[in-house]
Order: sequence, then structure tokens, then C-alpha cells
Amino acid sequence: MTGGLPDVDVLGVNVPGVDVPGVERREDDVREVDVLVVGGGGAGLTASMLLSRLGIDSLLVSARPDTSTVPKAHVLNQRTMEILRELGLAEQVYAAGTPAANMSHTGWYAGLRGEHDDYGREIARIECWGAGATDPAWVAASPCRTTNLPQIRLEPLLRRRAEELAPGRVRFGREVTALDPDEDGVTATVRDVATDEVTRVRARYVLGCDGGRFVGPDRGVTMEGVSNLFRSVSVHATTDLTRWLRDDEVLIRWIWLPHIGTSCAIVPMGPQRWGTDSEEWVFHLSFPMDVPVPDDEAVVAELRRALGLDRHPMQVHRINRWLVEGVVADRFADGRVLLLGDAVRRLPPTGGLGLNSAIQDAHNLVWKVAAVLQGQAGPGLLDSYEAERKPVTVQFVQHAVANIVTHLRGMEAAGFGPGSDPDRNWATLRRMWGDDPADEDLRRRMRRAFADQSGEFDALGIEYGYEVDPADPATALVDDGSPADPPPDPRIHRPGTRPGALLPHAWVDPDGDVTARLPVMDLVRPGRFLLIAGEDGQAWAEAAAKVAGELGVGLDAVRIGHLDGDLLAPGTAWLDRRGTGPGGAVLVRPDRVVAWCATGPADDPEAEVTAALDAVLRRDR
Ligand SMILES: Cc1cc2nc3c(=O)[nH]c(=O)nc-3n(C[C@H](O)[C@H](O)[C@H](O)COP(=O)(O)OP(=O)(O)OC[C@H]3O[C@@H](n4cnc5c(N)ncnc54)[C@H](O)[C@@H]3O)c2cc1C
Repeated sequence: MTGGLPDVDVLGVNVPGVDVPGVERREDDVREVDVLVVGGGGAGLTASMLLSRLGIDSLLVSARPDTSTVPKAHVLNQRTMEILRELGLAEQVYAAGTPAANMSHTGWYAGLRGEHDDYGREIARIECWGAGATDPAWVAASPCRTTNLPQIRLEPLLRRRAEELAPGRVRFGREVTALDPDEDGVTATVRDVATDEVTRVRARYVLGCDGGRFVGPDRGVTMEGVSNLFRSVSVHATTDLTRWLRDDEVLIRWIWLPHIGTSCAIVPMGPQRWGTDSEEWVFHLSFPMDVPVPDDEAVVAELRRALGLDRHPMQVHRINRWLVEGVVADRFADGRVLLLGDAVRRLPPTGGLGLNSAIQDAHNLVWKVAAVLQGQAGPGLLDSYEAERKPVTVQFVQHAVANIVTHLRGMEAAGFGPGSDPDRNWATLRRMWGDDPADEDLRRRMRRAFADQSGEFDALGIEYGYEVDPADPATALVDDGSPADPPPDPRIHRPGTRPGALLPHAWVDPDGDVTARLPVMDLVRPGRFLLIAGEDGQAWAEAAAKVAGELGVGLDAVRIGHLDGDLLAPGTAWLDRRGTGPGGAVLVRPDRVVAWCATGPADDPEAEVTAALDAVLRRDR
């Protein structure tokens, strides 16, 4: 609405507000929305942008006056970057983030600075997250490379874009204090944190993206799993470490502390430089649950002692304590209230899956909410959100916890641990660096322990390749009965078009013009299904056009082949991955998940496409 009278609800019908000349629109006039998004972190801001892009009227309220001031998550994986590409944000994020050359590896080092030359020496180094966009499997998986941008720098970009897409509908400094759901919607009480003014917002759906602080607990949702793995303290500081660091290609440095027996992680924060000369850093220290976390002064003293930084200039911006958990919500929804991000999972940072899953939750859910609100789908479609995201979440939490164990095993292999003897720790490292044949077994064990960390740093199968199981009838997929064939290793990604898989990446050339080459993902338009037929699949494409008109569902169709088709696929990537013959077709959902697949032609393609869409969209006819 504009200035004047607010929108009102008349028997469930949203009557737009009335413009009154000379009356300024006040922000708090908004009382009625289709979707209320609670929380302005990664999940909420992404949901807001996706809703706006689909023309859904939404309001985002977030309790704090601004985006997060805690560095928190930083690695943005390929699946997330594809979502940001859809939202027109990928280029900005890449420009602000770590160059590929500064994030091809992760490394382990023996302390940082100390009284002898072995301090700072490399213990091991392995490739990570696609080796700076050079690992062929990662390059082939997606048109978007993994990048790294701390949450404090990412969220302002998300916020600005969300505000551009929904002016006046992204409100920070507003906290939801009560929710009152009924059959037709939810009434939320929203408090202006600065003025204490309270307003009520009536929404047809509420997306709880508040990190699990209010919405989930208020709806009786409980978290299951281990809620006290360990405590972590993050110190964000400006300091010059150039003199002691090596390896500009290393993103995360795991500093083993032989003189203490524990370790500490260091990550560059940029913002301009990301190698050893990064201006800012975040230091992560861990504390067992039974050890009280020291106060700020003691944390900094501990950090300086651990790294040998004594009186080295360091401007500390922020010290944050957090509890590392491995928990999953028992329910992802309560009627018209749906939960996303940290509201449904909290997991260890090992693997960088927290923020990424928050953004990916929004991508799975928002098109479904829009389809229901726009009358294209039945409300049952929303049940598929939990059915699709919960199993993936459980997998992520297990993976992140397993990654911690792998880290600990590496240290154990060297005999490190709290209270271990410093002289013995150094002696072990020197045996490992040496070439005495008697130490070959130690060197082999250590090599193996570090190579095993690829489970965290080369986990393409988990990060990108995770699939939804179509055998669960609650999913928005059509099970074709083909047996599940998960890769034998979480590191392996096998692109394909089994229902539940993400649309595999391939390049296509419009009119065979290589200069206009685009990734097949770009063919999926906001909120619309895409039927991709083979070069001989004209009947499928025609059927899709007809069914789209009949059902009033957004559905595009295209034929892709190597020699013939509406679009030509260079090389063999698409032919290899499409999972159909030249006369087959796949139906791709708006979130680019394959919903249905026909390997060849059909007698009645129109009936088949209609049945697939009806099943996916839970349309009762
Ligand atoms: C200190 C710390 C370090 C972390 N480090 C890592 C890491 O290294 N790697 C990693 O993968 N993950 C990390 N995480 C986790 C990662 O940051 C989260 O997974 C991610 O932020 C989840 O995004 P979200 O949008 O779901 O929730 P959040 O980012 O928590 O956003 C929730 C939003 O909701 C708002 N809010 C809360 N209550 C209300 C209310 N009642 N009304 C309105 N708004 C409300 C909050 O102000 C906030 O803006 C870390 C988390 C913490 C706390």
C-alpha cells in the first residue's frame, strides 16, 4: 500500500490501503501480509528476496537493529552460490569475497611464533573446496565456484538486495514477541525495540528464521541431538600476521600448539586482502564443556600466549562465545508456521554447512509457499518441506560431527591432547618432518590422518550432491521406482536426473552460438517449472505448453540435444547427465530439483505431464 489508510482484512480478503494525498506512508502502517519472515539472518533475508522475486507480499522483521556483527560462518558453497546467482547477487559476493587463489588449500601448522624456527612450520596441507576452482569434479558440478565471505560482510549485501526488492518491507529493530495462529493465518505481535511500540501483523504464513530463539520454542518445537559438544570462542581482530604466516593459498589454518597440546583455527577476514597479509583475522578457540570459558581479557591473554603474540599490536573488535551443538528440530513446521535455518538445526562449523543450509532451506521452501498462495498448488505441498529438508539436515549434522572426530583423530595420531608433554609433542613433529626410516610408520599414520580430512574439505557429494529420496511419498517428487544408488563415499558427486537430484550442470548454446553460452540452470525461471526434453522430444515440449495453459501452472519447455534441439549442448556433459534418451524428458521444479523423469517417449505425454504436476503440486482434482 501507499500513504493513507492501511490494508485491511475483510473475511480473509486483503483489501489494499487507500492513498490519501499529502499523507506520508508510515512504515508501521503495514498490518497485513501474505508472509511474515521472522529474522534477518541468512535464512530470513534469502527468503525475503525469493518471495519478492515471486511477487509475494512479505514483511521481514528482525530483532537486532542491524545485520550480525559476529563474523560467524564464511564459506559459501556452490549450491548456495547458485541461489545467489539466481538472485543477482553472485557477482557482488565474489567481488567482496576471497579470490580463488587464496582458498585452494587448508593447512596445519606447528604454532605461529615462538622461540625456535620450528614454530610456524607446516605440518600438512590439503586441497579444499574445489582447490580454488581447479578440481575437475567441482568445476564440472556447477557454474559457480565456492567462495568465502564472512557473515558480517555477506549479510549487508543480502539486506541491501532484500530492501531493493521489497522497499519498506525489511524492518530491523523489530522483535516478534507472540504468535497467535488460527486456521486462516497467524497474528504476530511485533515490538519496535527502540520505542517499545507494539503492532500486530496478520500473515497467512510465518517463516521462523530467528535462529531458534523464539518461534520454534513458542510453537513447542524441540531440538533433538547433542546440545553440548563443546564451547567455542571467536576473536575478531585487526592484526598483521604477515611475518609469521606462509602459504597465501591457505584459507583456514589449523594451528597445533605443541607447547599446550591443543589447537586453534585462524581464518582471514579480508576485507581487501585474503592471503597471509589479510588485514583482519578471526581466531577460534575451543573449550571443553567442563572448563569455564574465561572472560574477555583472559581470552585475549590466552590467545596471545598460545600464538606467541605477546605484545604484538592487535585491535580486538569482538569476542563471541558460542555453544557448539549437533541438534535437529523434531518438526520443521507447526501449521502455518514454518521453520528455517538455525531454527531447525544447529551444527558444528566443521564443513561450513550452517549458513549454507539456512539459505538452501529458503530455496526449497519459498517457491512452495508462493505456489500455494498463488493457487497453483494445494496446501499439502508445504508438507514436503520437512520431508525433503529433515533427512538432509540429519545427514549434515552427522557429517559435521564426524568431521570433528576426524580432526581429533589427527591430533591423537600425533599424541597431542590437553596436558600432553610439550617436549614430546615437538619431538613427535620432528620425527614426522625427519626421514629416519624408523619413523616411517608414524609418517604414514599422519599422512593418512590428514588425507582423511578430505571428508570435510572435499565433500562435494555432501555439499552439492545431496539428494531427496523420492520413495518418501511426502516429498514433492514423482518416484520412478529406479533404485537409489548413492555414491559409495560422501566425497563423490554423481550428477544425474533421478527425481530428487539437483538439475545437473551443463552448458548450452542458444542457436549454437558459443558466445551466448549459458548454464542450463539459467533456463529455470523464477517460480516456474521447466520441462527439458531430448532433441527428439517435440511431443513432450508440445504437451508441456498445452498442460501449462490448462492448469495455469508456470511451466516452460525446451529441447536440448548435441546436434539438434532448441538449444545445443556442447561436449558430452548434458548427454551424459540427462538420464534420458533423445525422446525422453525431465521435469525440473522451480528450485531446480528434478521432480520427474521419463527416459523415452510416451503414448500420452500430455496425461503424463499433467499427472506429474498434479502429484508434485498436491492438486486435488
Ligand atoms: C558465534 C557463531 C559462529 C559461527 N560460526 C560458524 C561457522 O564458522 N561456520 C558455519 O557454517 N556456521 C557458523 N555458525 C552458524 C551460522 O552462523 C548459522 O548457521 C547461520 O547464521 C544461520 O542463519 P539463520 O538465518 O538461520 O540464523 P541467524 O543468523 O541466527 O539469524 C537469526 C536472526 O533472527 C533475529 N531474531 C531472533 N529472535 C527474533 C525475534 N524474536 N524476532 C525477530 N527477529 C529475531 C536475530 O536478530 C537474527 O537476525 C556460527 C554461529 C555462531 C553463533
